[in-house]
Amino acid sequence: MITPVKISPATLANLAKLGIHHRADLLLHLPLRYEDETHLAPIETAEPGNTMQVQGVITHSEIVFRPRRTLLCRLRDESGELYLRFLNFYPSQTKLLAVDRKIRAAGEVRMGYYGLEMVHPKCSMVTDDTPLKTSLTPVYPSTAGLSQTALRKLIANALEVLPTPDHLPEEIRRRLKLDGFSESIRLLHNPAPDIVPSTLEERSHPAWQRVKFDELLAQQISMRVHHKERSARKAPALKIKGHYCDVLLKNLPFRLTRSQQKVSKEIGGDLARPHPMQRLLLGDVGSGKTIVAALAALQAIENGYQVAFMAPTEILAEQHYLKLTGWLAPLGLIPVWLSGSQKKKEKQLAAEKIASGETLLAIGTHALFQQQISFQKLGLAIVDEQHKFGVEQRLALHAKGKAAQAKPGFQEPHQLMMSATPIPRTLAMSYYADLDVSVIDELPPGRTPVITKLVSDERRCEVFERVRSACMSGQQAYWVCPLIDESEALQLQNALETHQQLCTTFPELRVGLVHGKMDSTEKVRVMNAFKTGELQLLVATTVIEVGVDVPNASLMVIDHAERMGLAQLHQLRGRVGRGAQQSLCILLYQKPLSELARTRLKVIFENNDGFAIAQQDLQLRGPGELLGARQSGMAMLRFADIDADEDLLEQARTVADELLREYPEAARGYLHRWMANRHDFLHA
Ligand code: ADP
Ligand code: MG
Repeated sequence: MITPVKISPATLANLAKLGIHHRADLLLHLPLRYEDETHLAPIETAEPGNTMQVQGVITHSEIVFRPRRTLLCRLRDESGELYLRFLNFYPSQTKLLAVDRKIRAAGEVRMGYYGLEMVHPKCSMVTDDTPLKTSLTPVYPSTAGLSQTALRKLIANALEVLPTPDHLPEEIRRRLKLDGFSESIRLLHNPAPDIVPSTLEERSHPAWQRVKFDELLAQQISMRVHHKERSARKAPALKIKGHYCDVLLKNLPFRLTRSQQKVSKEIGGDLARPHPMQRLLLGDVGSGKTIVAALAALQAIENGYQVAFMAPTEILAEQHYLKLTGWLAPLGLIPVWLSGSQKKKEKQLAAEKIASGETLLAIGTHALFQQQISFQKLGLAIVDEQHKFGVEQRLALHAKGKAAQAKPGFQEPHQLMMSATPIPRTLAMSYYADLDVSVIDELPPGRTPVITKLVSDERRCEVFERVRSACMSGQQAYWVCPLIDESEALQLQNALETHQQLCTTFPELRVGLVHGKMDSTEKVRVMNAFKTGELQLLVATTVIEVGVDVPNASLMVIDHAERMGLAQLHQLRGRVGRGAQQSLCILLYQKPLSELARTRLKVIFENNDGFAIAQQDLQLRGPGELLGARQSGMAMLRFADIDADEDLLEQARTVADELLREYPEAARGYLHRWMANRHDFLHA
């Protein structure tokens, strides 16, 4: 009888690093690529760049010191000769590769100092009748201290001892013309030599299709289960009363767009139900999400519940605070402000007003969700620029909710998340399948699209003139400092220098500076000075990337635009074009441009629509980064690629519903196989 191999604690720790926590996880630890050791190639066919396996006799073996200690051997077969070279080697290798030994070597051929060579090939001693491998050799993702050989053994053992039932009902499998689960993973772990390796490496082989489908299906099932669990939980039913909302709408200097009305209705309907809303409000930069959020807040307030309105940066939170105060003060509602950099006394005062229920609307940064803040009767949490919050913050928020749920009679607050990172439909479907999504798909009327210009740094002086004349004619401008990845200190230094320089260049203009290291009162002072027109030119780091809204600013210069990502450029550009006058965004770039930078600048130059830009961004960078660097760590999908595998995703969506309805046991099987370790992360 075959028994499971014992796994040492050290190996277990290494496996955990790879996300393998249960023996069954080994089954889904699939190869990155394969080595072909199923046949031998004559040495004369070796060409640089080829990966091949050859066999011959060692004709020469010595240790040379050029440039450092190197084991250099010559291998000859009937057709020709090749060098084998090792930089780090053991005495056992010197012994193995002795002259006259018959050796089989596999590796990549390169052109080296001595001629064609393989560096660190995989070598073994053979006789004339040593058999060749009968399947391609898998190469697995691994980690230091865990050899391929050890991993292969563990996986082979798991394939032997564990049952690998196909959870997909036969009828559905046939309908979708998918291969069986067990045969698919067995094939991927041990592909026969006649399989075209590229179909494996490109993951187009039916076995890969099956695995990717299963992964997507498990994800869809998990999200639906989560969605359903939510409708079993309790939240306050915040009925639409309208009195505050009506007054606010009447006082506004504009009318809501059709799109704003539609999403407002969706949100209002959700809030009125006794189950927690989790809705994502998507809308391009400038589409007017804030007023929609304000109306949702009023609906909660009309029912006597508190609202927390959270933004990722102090500048943005402060701006919301000012804007909402302006809108709500005429209704007799005064919001409370809370941020991390506030003085202790002020923070305490705000916390007291929140805890006593005296204040109905609290606006601030994530300080709002820290331990010591407790709401008396929280009905709605609004999170702006949701994608800017990290996974840890979202987990913390989640945990806080869970702890409170233990109390009897607990009612969970509704959640409204907003994002100006327009997410392509496929990504939204996959990543946010457990949320309800509302989309604002039009901009308020009267906006003139921003004109974008690409200008090489050599023409900086012309750009200066442009800034000068714009400001002299009463407009306002932003000058965005280059992004410096290496260090915050350099970034700051650069911002200070740019500010100095521009003050000198424009003695006749009032030039301000705002950057991330400033203390928040100072930041607010500068932003207000810019808003009121006291400052004409604002030098800024990318802290102004999200949310900042100064309609009179109609010119933006982005210095070293080639360093910025597409989403960032689009967000920055969205700071202008908010008023009626024609706006201009100048992307100053430094030559030479990398291929990627050139593509990015072209995309941003040719597109104004955030969704189109996001779609191209997805292709350039992959979904992980698009959702924000901090979220990419969660690697939602290991095998499927939601852009390339859109068709599979569509099928998985339909089948997920079908399984949950008609084959609940199968759905559980999927969750168990794919999601056992990842449930929490997925729903952070
Ligand atoms: P975002 O969706 O990027 O958060 P904001 O909520 O900041 O956009 O709105 C951008 C600007 O458009 C603000 O100045 C806001 O007052 C204004 N605005 C919002 N809705 C309308 C509308 N229906 N008509 C005209 N202006 C509007
Ligand atoms: Mg906004």
